Amino acid sequence: MARKKKTGLNRREAIKAASAAALGAAAGAGAGSGGALGAEKPLKVRPPSAFSRQAEVPGFGGTRVAVIGGGWSGLETARQLKKNRRDLDVVLIEKRASFFSCPLSNLWLVDRIPLDDLTHSYIDAAHNNDYTWLHAAVVDVDRHKRVIYTDQGWLTYDFLVVAPGIDYDYTRYGVADPGDAARLRATYPAAFMAGSELLTLKRKLEEFDGGVFVLTAPPGNYRCLPAPYERACMIAGYMKDNDIKGRVLLLDSREHPPFHPDGINEAIRDLYRRYVVRIGGVNITGVDIGKRRIETEMGEIVFTDAAIYPPVRGSRVLERFGIADMKDPGRFADIDPISYRVRGDERVFVGGDARPMPFIKAGMAANYEAGHIARVITSQMEGKDLSPLSSPGLMCYVAVNAKPLQSVAFKISFGWVYDRGTGEKRFMQKAQAFPKRSRSLGKANIQWGRGMFQEMFYNSL
Ligand SMILES: Cc1cc2nc3c(=O)[nH]c(=O)nc-3n(C[C@H](O)[C@H](O)[C@H](O)COP(=O)(O)OP(=O)(O)OC[C@H]3O[C@@H](n4cnc5c(N)ncnc54)[C@H](O)[C@@H]3O)c2cc1C
Repeated sequence: MARKKKTGLNRREAIKAASAAALGAAAGAGAGSGGALGAEKPLKVRPPSAFSRQAEVPGFGGTRVAVIGGGWSGLETARQLKKNRRDLDVVLIEKRASFFSCPLSNLWLVDRIPLDDLTHSYIDAAHNNDYTWLHAAVVDVDRHKRVIYTDQGWLTYDFLVVAPGIDYDYTRYGVADPGDAARLRATYPAAFMAGSELLTLKRKLEEFDGGVFVLTAPPGNYRCLPAPYERACMIAGYMKDNDIKGRVLLLDSREHPPFHPDGINEAIRDLYRRYVVRIGGVNITGVDIGKRRIETEMGEIVFTDAAIYPPVRGSRVLERFGIADMKDPGRFADIDPISYRVRGDERVFVGGDARPMPFIKAGMAANYEAGHIARVITSQMEGKDLSPLSSPGLMCYVAVNAKPLQSVAFKISFGWVYDRGTGEKRFMQKAQAFPKRSRSLGKANIQWGRGMFQEMFYNSL
């Protein structure tokens, strides 16, 4: 562990030192106290009548493919379906009023790019790609009758793609009570889901005037493995530029970062030596919101402010729709990993971060995979079979410096290969690192994001 060598502290001492620094720092944001969820008596509820009316979706007449979730996966799946077959009636159902991107958001946090880069209109995406956007939250799916129930009414489908992303699992940080979990999320939002959490994190950063800002990197295949490191670099740069007497404390559940870390470690060493401390192998066992204290197996950490990123699990709607793998502690989708089809239901598919496969949970992966899912569906309509997904090298950029903008990068390939030894298909993931931080990779980082938005929202089919 690099930090241990430099300071001569062991992990337990590092945790003690970090805590002492926070105790001495300015008292900070977000502390509060309160009780558990549901002090009220349970009610006997009757579903509101909205579910019994038909949703106002323009009649199209063709085979309908409904896509639940307008994130990186759903947007591209809808677009690719229409690209494959213009005669399809594609309906994208998304509960948010407008799109908000997580990719590039760490740059926006420190004012390196404007909010306009991250936010886009579902009306534009639907209009330019010739599908329908239904602005609604899906509450249930009757897979037997092929009916989707939303807060704006019901609609039927012939095929369904479910792409709802992730949920947080605070129980694995020792926060078992749902009310406490909700309070923790509201007080120290992870900001690994788009929208208000990110807006709050930016506000917190602007108000931060010193002390220890904790970020956590949870165990498991969490959303966007390098993003906590990118965020640590951006926040440290912000502290440095604004002369804030603070420090980012990155508590990583892993002993070593889950990817080739050289470029990021080098940036931390060269640029943020006094501003970032990473402690690896930290197992978080509890969080005391009021006392601003994180409990770990090695001791307690007191912080000034934090963005606490817990382990992730498949979106809870998967369970409601009866398509979660209940044997998987992460409750990700129960799909065949080659066709993305829900086991036992040939008309329902799951894409994006809700998938159970072990490759990187990233927008670029969701976007690439969407083309495969769309092809599986249109091939199935035509009675054809399709070969399994195998990606080319997809670029994943990680910003390490905002001013000037410099990034490092990874080229990631994943998919299924034929294993001659066993005669079976085997999953593989490869990553090639580009660890030398540069302005050209910084430029490519922004261009990649803008190119994706151009494709998903503005290019006409
Ligand atoms: C800080 C950060 C930086 C990142 N940087 C990168 C990067 O540089 N490159 C990269 O490739 N990836 C990056 N990622 C990862 C990327 O954001 C995710 O992998 C990607 O968003 C996954 O897409 P998805 O469609 O599965 O989920 P999401 O994008 O989360 O979309 C799910 C959508 O479903 C909707 N939804 C959920 N339930 C319902 C319902 N019941 N009814 C209607 N709608 C519903 C949600 O509102 C949401 O819009 C980053 C993530 C973070 C947090």
